[in-house]
Amino acid sequence: MKKIDIENLDKLPGIQIKENETFKFRCHPEVSCFNRCCRNLNLFLYPYDVVRLKQSLNISSDKFLDEYVDVVLRPANYFPEVLLRMSATREKNCPFMSTAGCTVYADRPDTCRAFPVEQGMLYDAQQKKDTPVYLFRPPDFCRGQDEDEEWSIPEWTRDQDAEFYHQMTIRWVEVKRLFQNDPWGLEGPEGSKAKMAFMAAYNVDRFRNFIFQSSFLRRYKLKSVLLKKLKTDDVQLLKFGFEWIKFFVWGIKTKNIRLR
Ligand code: SF4
Ligand code: SF4
Repeated sequence: MKKIDIENLDKLPGIQIKENETFKFRCHPEVSCFNRCCRNLNLFLYPYDVVRLKQSLNISSDKFLDEYVDVVLRPANYFPEVLLRMSATREKNCPFMSTAGCTVYADRPDTCRAFPVEQGMLYDAQQKKDTPVYLFRPPDFCRGQDEDEEWSIPEWTRDQDAEFYHQMTIRWVEVKRLFQNDPWGLEGPEGSKAKMAFMAAYNVDRFRNFIFQSSFLRRYKLKSVLLKKLKTDDVQLLKFGFEWIKFFVWGIKTKNIRLR
């Protein structure tokens, strides 16, 4: 999800779709470009995407990260990006693409749900509030833009079953924004503190082991209701992971984590 500065809003590629505005689009298996948008992508995965995909594939988050993603730390960034690894063939297909379409459709990433709309975040520093910005941006080859079906952003979001995905992405953007400044000090972004933050965001199964099998619970007191949820519920664990990152990296207090 793009961070958007107010000065750059008019310069962004694509057409901004405001509240009460609509765009025309329809994708179906008969389009001549079927599946073309699932190739050669820089597809960023958010933490909730990883949870849904590893559940869909019935594998651990560890295995998913090993087999399906590239973790990239861009220069001058303090938290890595997680990209879905395209196939090593000339076409560079998405690993989940089949001739019949997406094999993980019910659990496809947030970006795939929003497509051909890109969601960005405009941050109001005074109000300390994010406002989503939507850009209709189909690639030139996408013939779905020639169709007559008309959508507002809420209608499209509902149709793509993306509401909860968007909520989770916004939660993550709020945490990720804190990484604009270097929180790692001498350890750097490859140090143990950074690895802990990455685990809490992207590797829920390993994070669960950390909570229940390390000295964590001897050092921190968590409510029993929450502990029970963390044992089995990946989404609760991810939400807790976001709180833990804020607490562990920046000391931001939360009612859910108390020192013993
Ligand atoms: S390129 Fe557009 S119309 Fe073609 S399959 Fe992808 S989303 Fe559908
Ligand atoms: S996850 Fe599915 S929808 Fe997204 S790029 Fe891959 S095949 Fe296409």
